[in-house]
Amino acid sequence: MIGDPATLWHATARPLAGLPTLSGAAESDLLIIGGGFFGLSTALHAAEAGLSVTLIEAHRIAWGASGRNAGFVVPNFARVDPDAIRAADGAQGERLIALAAGSSDLVFDLVRRHGIDCDAGQTGWIQPSHSDAAFSKAQSRVRQWSGLGRPVEVLNRAHVAQLTGVPGWRGGWIDWSGGVLNPVAYARGLAAAAAKAGARLHEESPVTNLQRQGADWLVTTPAGRITARRVILATNAYVGPLWPQLAQSFFPLRVFQVATESLPQSVRARLLPGGQAVSDSRRNLFTFRFDAQNRLISGGMHVVSIGAAARLPRTIHRRLARFLDLPDLPPLAFSWSGMASVMPDFLPRLVELAPNLIAGFACNGRGIAMTTAMGRELAGWALGQDITSLAVPVRPATKIPFHGLARFAPNALLPFGNVRDRLEARSKSE
Ligand SMILES: Cc1cc2nc3c(=O)[nH]c(=O)nc-3n(C[C@H](O)[C@H](O)[C@H](O)COP(=O)(O)OP(=O)(O)OC[C@H]3O[C@@H](n4cnc5c(N)ncnc54)[C@H](O)[C@@H]3O)c2cc1C
Repeated sequence: MIGDPATLWHATARPLAGLPTLSGAAESDLLIIGGGFFGLSTALHAAEAGLSVTLIEAHRIAWGASGRNAGFVVPNFARVDPDAIRAADGAQGERLIALAAGSSDLVFDLVRRHGIDCDAGQTGWIQPSHSDAAFSKAQSRVRQWSGLGRPVEVLNRAHVAQLTGVPGWRGGWIDWSGGVLNPVAYARGLAAAAAKAGARLHEESPVTNLQRQGADWLVTTPAGRITARRVILATNAYVGPLWPQLAQSFFPLRVFQVATESLPQSVRARLLPGGQAVSDSRRNLFTFRFDAQNRLISGGMHVVSIGAAARLPRTIHRRLARFLDLPDLPPLAFSWSGMASVMPDFLPRLVELAPNLIAGFACNGRGIAMTTAMGRELAGWALGQDITSLAVPVRPATKIPFHGLARFAPNALLPFGNVRDRLEARSKSE
């Protein structure tokens, strides 16, 4: 089996003692496939509610996107806002909006409640505006989220510069309920809490087969099998051949992350003194945050995949130095990549693949908070809550047309997004 990926987070999180592989035959009310935030949050909430729960992970806990992300806790949707969701989906949309709105609070509440040591800070998430049009949108976003009672605020140009230490953005907005954490430490903490609540967790146990057995499901791994009434596929972009139709229903997107060596305190005091997470409004996002040791963290995407693992970290490092005016930016200490799942409408999905078999994915870069909240929802489903009353709409798995080619679209379109970002950023304010 493959060990932990070489990320900053795996290197710095408190270790989790290895969990046993699945062997022999067993039964469970609920079986969860995938040991990321989604599977772990579901396991924790379902076990706390008294169900017998088994979670099976092919590699190690937080091996997938949950261990490879940037650790930004963000309680909203990428590129879609409450008014549009409400207009499209009425009461169902209202439930989804409420779920997102409270999702960061849920993460930080779980961290506090279970004493998870993950360098968590509910310091806020800032989205600076790269253009005047983006600033108008920021004002609209604040109006919509503040209407829901969220702790959000419009930031003028000076306020963004003061909070981030970076001049030049046209303004922006902040949601003070967002923040940062070490995602591997958070996932390991959720795993420990779920085990304490009674869930059985197994690592290095890839599910190789999933088949109906009467009203139940029989789930097979190389050395074991479990019979369960309900099954959740929490495999996200890593679903692979287990359910091919699912793998073709989202865009798999490789995202690169880097972390520099620690910055001197003098520089750290100028940049992001409040320790927020920043992702600006560009199509080709510019993101940054610090970890607890003052390492600077950012990310990016490639256009051409060949050679990207060697090239992209250097590109991101140069971009960081330029945007943050840091000619002496320390070298990179870590670089890694992971797979995210993205939907054309930028909304998360639950898919009922067959009776009592549900998959959930596509948190579009908002997965820390959103999958944690979705896990609590799915625990409700495992306890018998009607599927139609869940906050995340349950839709059929729809294959994206020409997926073999279309899957490259998010990367291939990046240069066009870059050009539009630059033209918009150059257009003068009135
Ligand atoms: C580089 C990157 C940066 C990101 N940054 C952020 C961010 O800053 N903030 C944010 O909110 N979101 C971010 N995201 C998105 C976020 O990380 C994901 O939405 C979230 O982690 C998804 O969690 P998950 O539990 O659904 O899936 P994953 O964490 O991907 O877990 C799926 C698991 O399923 C397991 N699995 C697959 N097949 C099998 C099988 N057959 N048997 C057993 N196990 C199996 C895999 O091994 C894997 O561990 C980022 C994503 C990436 C890739």
